[in-house]
Order: sequence, then structure tokens, then C-alpha cells
Amino acid sequence: MSTRQTAETIVGAVDDLEYTVLARTPHTPNIIELELAPAGERLSYRSGQYVVIGDPDRALPVRSYSLANAPNPSGRINVLVTEVPGGEMSTWLHRGLRIGDRVLVSGPYGTFVADPGADGPVLCLAAGSGLAPIRALAEDAVRRAGAQRFTVLFSARTQADVMNMGRFASWQRQYPGLRFVRTLTGQAGEPPLGRLPGLLPALFGDLCGHEVFIAGAPGFVADCARAARGLGARPGHLHTEEFFHEPWPWSAPVAAQGQQ
Ligand SMILES: Cc1cc2nc3c(=O)[nH]c(=O)nc-3n(C[C@H](O)[C@H](O)[C@H](O)COP(=O)(O)OP(=O)(O)OC[C@H]3O[C@@H](n4cnc5c(N)ncnc54)[C@H](O)[C@@H]3O)c2cc1C
Repeated sequence: MSTRQTAETIVGAVDDLEYTVLARTPHTPNIIELELAPAGERLSYRSGQYVVIGDPDRALPVRSYSLANAPNPSGRINVLVTEVPGGEMSTWLHRGLRIGDRVLVSGPYGTFVADPGADGPVLCLAAGSGLAPIRALAEDAVRRAGAQRFTVLFSARTQADVMNMGRFASWQRQYPGLRFVRTLTGQAGEPPLGRLPGLLPALFGDLCGHEVFIAGAPGFVADCARAARGLGARPGHLHTEEFFHEPWPWSAPVAAQGQQ
């Protein structure tokens, strides 16, 4: 696997570490969680970063996946994978991969990380597998400071698309500063209901003192970022991770677009 051209300067990333599939857990009709254990050298990363995953035969295009857990001594990593209809890598990860199989992991990449010195309130907005880097950031916050003033707003279409409720409910019981709220966009039920950008002003009057993290599909991230800016979220304190579709191989014009 060659080093990918991205807008970011990548420091300390390593290519093609071998990982073994330890567990495969379905969370929603189209999202599974994979737990991967290092077969040899392990990845060193920060919560919120992503890796690039490839198949051992190098037959499929490699794709980016955010890590869903904070670093831990076992070196195990977790990813949440949405199955994209007709998608080469996500279909293989969902349907082709078996427990005990190997994958190639390269990384870490990305700057969707918390400033260790920041101690203000944190608001995280996620949809679908965008919950992955947010979950890692929440786990990190819980470990470091008991997650003081840490709110996660998770957008799902229906109740069947809500995931990790048990994990967040348990953190919430242990750490009163952490709050997990789900909203449904396509089903009646317990409030809050509706899309997050529209709900945000009612939930948060002013975001100017917040660190804001938004992850998910590009349209979701753009709409939420606009809403957050409208509520005073400051540049430099508004962090976004867009799960955009990656052409492969990367070409110069595409890399240039990403820098705009
Ligand atoms: C920084 C970053 C982090 C990411 N993290 C995650 C993650 O944690 N979990 C995760 O599931 N994905 C994540 N993605 C998206 C992932 O990298 C792949 O793009 C996705 O899995 C689709 O790859 P594929 O090979 O299955 O589909 P492809 O073969 O690349 O695409 C097949 C078809 O589906 C369309 N398509 C591709 N992606 C999407 C999409 N997301 N929605 C709708 N249509 C699509 C394409 O335009 C194409 O027509 C991330 C992307 C980036 C850039």
C-alpha cells in the first residue's frame, strides 16, 4: 500500500500492520462493529483518529475507518462499518470477513482529536457510524477526567438505527457530567425528534465556550457545522470529520479539492 495523498501532514503513520478479526457485532441493520487484535506490531494513535484498512490480498480498494475506542494496553482496535450498497470494501468487511481473518491496517491519520489542555464543555454530534470517533473521544474523556460537561447528540433515522445505548447509559450512570441524547429523524417516539441542526438552538443557546466535534456523512457534518457556527462555535474549536467517498487511486485533482 503506498502512502496516500491527503491534505494533512501525516507524522508517525505506519503502513500495513497485520490485525486479526476477533469479533464481529451487528449493531443496526447496516452497521457492524469489528474488533481487531494486532498480530504483530501495534498501532499507536490518539482518540478520534482513523486508519486505512485493506484486505491481505490487496485485491480491494483500501478505505478509511475511524477508530471507535480509545487506545488501550491490549492494542485492540474497534471500527464501526456501515455497509454501502455496491461498496467494495464495506461489503467485504460485512459479508466476506470471518473471525480469525487478517486485515491490513495503516495509520493513524487525522486531526479530529481533543486538545489535552482544553477543559471547557464538549458537544459531540454524530450520525450513523460517525459515532465511532465520538465514542473514542468520550471514552478518552471518561478515563482522563470523568467526562465533565461532555454531551453526545446522536442522530438516527429509526430506533433500530440507534446503537451503543447500553455503553453510553452505563457511562452516564457512572459519570454525571456525561450526557447521551438520541434523536430520531424518521420515526415518531420519545422526544427529541427531528434533525440535529434544527434541534440545536433549542438544546444549546450558546456554543461559544464549547469544543464542538461533528462526525458522519458530509451533508450531515456541513449542516451541523453551519448550525453550530450560528450558535457561536468558534473557529479552531469546531472539529469536523467527514466520511466522504474516496476514489482510488487518489488523483492530484481530487487531493487538491480536499485542500479547499
Ligand atoms: C476520514 C474518514 C473516516 C471514515 N470513517 C468511516 C467509519 O468509521 N465507518 C464507515 O462505515 N465509513 C467510514 N468512512 C467511509 C469509508 O472510508 C468508505 O468510503 C465506505 O466504507 C465506502 O467504501 P466502499 O469501498 O464500500 O464503497 P465504494 O466502492 O467506494 O463505493 C460504492 C458506491 O457507493 C457510493 N458511496 C461510497 N461511500 C458512500 C457513503 N458513505 N454513502 C453513500 N454512498 C456511498 C460511491 O459513490 C459508489 O457509487 C470514512 C471516510 C473517511 C474519509
